[in-house]
Amino acid sequence: MHFELSDDLRAFRDLARDFAAKHIAPHARKWDESKWIPDDVVRQMGEIGLLGVTIPEEYGGAGQGLLAMTVVVEEIARHCGATALLVAAHAGLCCGHLRLAANDTQKRKYLPSLATGKMVGSWCLSEPHCGTDAAALTTRAEKASGGWVLNGQKMWVTNGKRAGVFVVMARTKNEPGARSISAFIVERGAKGLEIGEPEDKMGMRGSDTVPLSLEDVRVGDDALVGNLDEGYIDALKVLDRGRVTIGSLSVGLGRGCLEEAVKYAAERKSFGVPLHMHQAIQLKLADMETQVEAARLLVRQAACTFDAGRPDKQAASIAKLFASEGASRVAWESIQIHGGAGYTKDICVERLARDTKLCEIGEGSSEVQRMLIARAEYQKRSA
Ligand SMILES: Cc1cc2nc3c(=O)[nH]c(=O)nc-3n(C[C@H](O)[C@H](O)[C@H](O)COP(=O)(O)OP(=O)(O)OC[C@H]3O[C@@H](n4cnc5c(N)ncnc54)[C@H](O)[C@@H]3O)c2cc1C
Repeated sequence: MHFELSDDLRAFRDLARDFAAKHIAPHARKWDESKWIPDDVVRQMGEIGLLGVTIPEEYGGAGQGLLAMTVVVEEIARHCGATALLVAAHAGLCCGHLRLAANDTQKRKYLPSLATGKMVGSWCLSEPHCGTDAAALTTRAEKASGGWVLNGQKMWVTNGKRAGVFVVMARTKNEPGARSISAFIVERGAKGLEIGEPEDKMGMRGSDTVPLSLEDVRVGDDALVGNLDEGYIDALKVLDRGRVTIGSLSVGLGRGCLEEAVKYAAERKSFGVPLHMHQAIQLKLADMETQVEAARLLVRQAACTFDAGRPDKQAASIAKLFASEGASRVAWESIQIHGGAGYTKDICVERLARDTKLCEIGEGSSEVQRMLIARAEYQKRSA
């Protein structure tokens, strides 16, 4: 593993860093309040290539790997978790599933628009009664002449309010469990597809999260993504990569909170000296810096295993767990260093801190990551 980013990756990092500083940071508070990231910002991200990083070049993307995705998402999350979540759900989940399992015709139809931001994508696995235990989903797809009819409820659909295309997991066999679920493409505007009102969330507020209702939604045979009854298996592969991406989102949030604390501790004085001259503050800053650096290394190490074609799922879980829980700790310490100012919305750390909590819940909660890490350890030992 090389610790230096390649020239290509540095270029992506700088592009994302520059865009985030100029076009995201100044507005992130407003988007948090209005619960919406403007469409033109999403389109701009697509136009400069930030939404199609991992989409193959033949379908209009940059053809980069998961490491590039982590670099981009970290830079955006540094200023706004919600925008980073929009990118992660669009590029990592929706485009990631299509890249993995769609056929060439489906890829040609959807990926170029998704790569350039002309269209935003959503990925629908969770349901009102099941998130962690997603294999218990009850949305059904019944075979009909020339296609399928979908019925059910989906929950927590990121980007659902603006998405042009939804990858929907539905049960295709009348039996419980993971091997009777398939993935389908449902387009916005499909008859019977109802998009609910966005949740009023604690954090990630600029990112819309909606419930979906599917009532006799008809799709063609060509809407099936991947093999019949293997949609959940593909979804798990999408989530393995997604965990690395959420790890990088956490690194970005933690880094934002750290950088703001370092700045404030240099400007703010107490007892005649800048805050950072007090040892108690230095200890906090040192722990925060150590956390962010270590999390970034774990995230990049995990990403490299996927890019090398030897995906290490345990490394992905370790990275997500360490980065997300650490980001929350860093955020609260940053608020502490900011004192009373940190408790107000004038300081972006308050928003970033609220954003961090989602990273411990979404795409497999911390409890799930711990289960997976321990299980993988025993599997390795018995192999
Ligand atoms: C902002 C946001 C965006 C989201 N975006 C999407 C999206 O785009 N697409 C999508 O499909 N889903 C999305 N989700 C759903 C998300 O993945 C789920 O919320 C998550 O998987 C947890 O599921 P749950 O909320 O149903 O909690 P539950 O599964 O009900 O779990 C509740 C608690 O119990 C714990 N728990 C559950 N089972 C066990 C166990 N066996 N052992 C120990 N502890 C356990 C969990 O860790 C959690 O702490 C999103 C969620 C949020 C909040």
